[in-house]
Amino acid sequence: MINLIDLQKHLEVQGAPAYRWRQFLDYYFSWDLKAWPNVDALQTWPKTLKNDLPALHNVTEIKYLESADQRSAKAIIKYGDDDKWGETVLMRYHNYDTICLSSQLGCPLNCKFCATGQGGFIRNLTAEEIIEQFQAWLIYLNQNGKADSIKNLVFMGMGEPFLNWSEVKRAIEYLHDNYGIGHRHITISTAGLPDKIKEFSDLDWPVNLAISLHAGSDAVRQKIMPIANTYNLNQLWDSINYYFGKHRRKLFLEYILIEHLNDSVGEMRLVVERIKKSERKLLHVNMIPYNPHSAADFQSSSAEQLRRLEALLKDEKIHYTWRDSLGQEIGGACGQLSKNS
Ligand code: SAH
Repeated sequence: MINLIDLQKHLEVQGAPAYRWRQFLDYYFSWDLKAWPNVDALQTWPKTLKNDLPALHNVTEIKYLESADQRSAKAIIKYGDDDKWGETVLMRYHNYDTICLSSQLGCPLNCKFCATGQGGFIRNLTAEEIIEQFQAWLIYLNQNGKADSIKNLVFMGMGEPFLNWSEVKRAIEYLHDNYGIGHRHITISTAGLPDKIKEFSDLDWPVNLAISLHAGSDAVRQKIMPIANTYNLNQLWDSINYYFGKHRRKLFLEYILIEHLNDSVGEMRLVVERIKKSERKLLHVNMIPYNPHSAADFQSSSAEQLRRLEALLKDEKIHYTWRDSLGQEIGGACGQLSKNS
């Protein structure tokens, strides 16, 4: 399997001049990519350098599913001979596209409302396999035009990025350095691992952070997110405040709305109180109506209840937006990534 660090070392050992690595990067990270990277297509390299190289991609099969309204597409990806497929989603907005990336095959966190969590955990993805998700969309978009519409990357697909942090970080560095995706256009979403949030806060880069909060009280959070038994809300909010000690940047709180579970006005009031004690101007609540799927028996909150919650946030002058959940019919919306079709 390709590993970019090993490949660069390999070139050094071969005594290849430094520009050979540059030539590789120009090829591998080209925005014009139309087919999976492969050594034979690396025309700038002499044959002698191509001996004994591993395959330049680990994707062995890919299927694209498009939504009827053309606003989103999902790619399911088979890596090597793994049984479980990875997934990535393309969301098409007016002037730009956002790509939702997966950090793991499956997820070990087992959140009750999330289809990925219900499907179990297979393994971490490598940085290169994460980059291959980006390349999957380059190949797709370049078939019918140009791929230069990709502006934003969000790690909100399968997996918990902070449980595969070294590879996710390495992938971000490559995507930033080689495709020129701005750090400010990249968002990590985490179920909330306080130690990792602090480690992330210590980094001097403007990558955005989103935290899957989903509750105002520990009791409710524990019902839907097993991770809440390991870290309580005091610890989570401590790490949020630690972040603000390091960065004066907006931070996103994701709140999925499940009927009769976490959608009472009282529960949301607890969130509001925490926000008011923290950096209320920098905190931004992402309200996400629950996306139904067959792996869980939850309902989305009623429109009436959503209006009540909205009224509370408005009254309290909390910054919030509703998440536009694209891709429901292709199982590409938040929390639906798990199926192979
Ligand atoms: N593990 C990370 C990233 C993956 S989930 C995290 O927990 O943040 C990305 C987002 O989808 C999270 O906000 C998650 O809570 C949300 N999500 C999961 N299942 C959902 C569902 N059924 N409906 C709506 N949003 C969901």
